[in-house]
Amino acid sequence: MQNTRLLQFPPAVNVRESLTLQGARVARSPYNAKYRTLFLRGTQIESITMTGVVDPPRSSKGGATIDLSGYLILPGLINAHDHLDFSLFPRLGRGPYPGWRQWAADIHRSEQPSIEECLRVPRDTRILWGGIHNLLSGVTTVAHHNPYLSHLFHVDFPVHVPREYGWAHSLFEIRRVVEQFHQTPPDWPFILHLAEGTDEPSQREFDVLASLLPIDARIILVHCVGVTSRQRESVARSGAGVVWCPSSNLYTLGRTLAADQVSAFPNVALGTDSPLTANGDLLDEVRLAHETSGAPAPFIYELVTTRAAQLLRLKNGEGVLQAGAPADLIVTRDRQQMPAETLVRLSWRDLELVMQKGRLVLLSPALADRMPGVLKQGMEWISIDGVKRLLRAPVRRLFSETSASLGRLPAISRRQFAPVPVVQLSSYEVRPVSEFRHSARSESPTPS
Ligand SMILES: [Zn+2]
Repeated sequence: MQNTRLLQFPPAVNVRESLTLQGARVARSPYNAKYRTLFLRGTQIESITMTGVVDPPRSSKGGATIDLSGYLILPGLINAHDHLDFSLFPRLGRGPYPGWRQWAADIHRSEQPSIEECLRVPRDTRILWGGIHNLLSGVTTVAHHNPYLSHLFHVDFPVHVPREYGWAHSLFEIRRVVEQFHQTPPDWPFILHLAEGTDEPSQREFDVLASLLPIDARIILVHCVGVTSRQRESVARSGAGVVWCPSSNLYTLGRTLAADQVSAFPNVALGTDSPLTANGDLLDEVRLAHETSGAPAPFIYELVTTRAAQLLRLKNGEGVLQAGAPADLIVTRDRQQMPAETLVRLSWRDLELVMQKGRLVLLSPALADRMPGVLKQGMEWISIDGVKRLLRAPVRRLFSETSASLGRLPAISRRQFAPVPVVQLSSYEVRPVSEFRHSARSESPTPS
């Protein structure tokens, strides 16, 4: 049974309003950022103009203007693989293992109390925490590897979860792989874990899959650690997508794809996998890919923006800051480096603003002070390891539900989450819960 009260989100800002962001450098590619003015209208970027040279579009006149001098604006990030319902689990297992099956068998044998504790939290609550975990690291779109939940992943969810995908867990459920593939519309991606292991069965999986399904650009293979060099060439030739999850692979298998192997795939993106095996969030994955695996910064920038959008077949211009694209963006202090070099050095603590489809969904205290009150309506403060962020999410209600189930406050990826006492918020706009206009949702919660 899911908790229906969680489905009542704080109201979104009126996204028909226009908003102007000025004074910041705006990333136009991994290599290039220029001082530009962004005019946003509704859910989209309306135009990007040279500062002070071009008048704002007629439709943008009259909206709020935010001064972001000293900041850099990057595209919102795309996480190509997560299981949002596993957000509250600690990292489990004592690897490395030959494959995911041995990992799963071990944690169900030795970690049962931890598993049962986290499963006491209702699934929808765990999924919302998963959305927040992604949001805090600048993710505006996340591919959720489990059923799409239309009662939850609506416009008010903290991050965008694409609806158009088919999926199966892996060849562990071979009949389901075939059934689900044939039930997936032909222009949607079909996603499954493949070769998540270094053992001989993992090395056979690609050949088995190729005997069952046509392998082409709509097939997305998560992990591919155990593929042979011959199979890697077949994957590359076919254009099939590959999602690289380095920290999860290193934790469970002691090995991941090498950077040159990843860059040989024409259709590839970066994913976190869930906190059950990952080491943190997407920005931690970005740093690992750069510092440990040695992948070049511009390539990693593409893995979490344009290449991820291509792999997931996102159709609206996600991953690029350009006119007509969704207003998905993140803001950090400008280090006067090229955008890709900035990205590979970021941690979640460096993100001061996240906008998802024209909605402000995350603000630091410094930028919250610059925002008109109307743009912050319905947002709530949270503390992560003592760092405050203002989020567009039902934070207080989430804490209440989670603490009631766990008997303690939640932690994600070893970061301690806590509510911010109202007494500390005297300088910020705070509205009591009772003022929230609950959005009406008619769908019944689905059973677990
Ligand atoms: Zn996974």
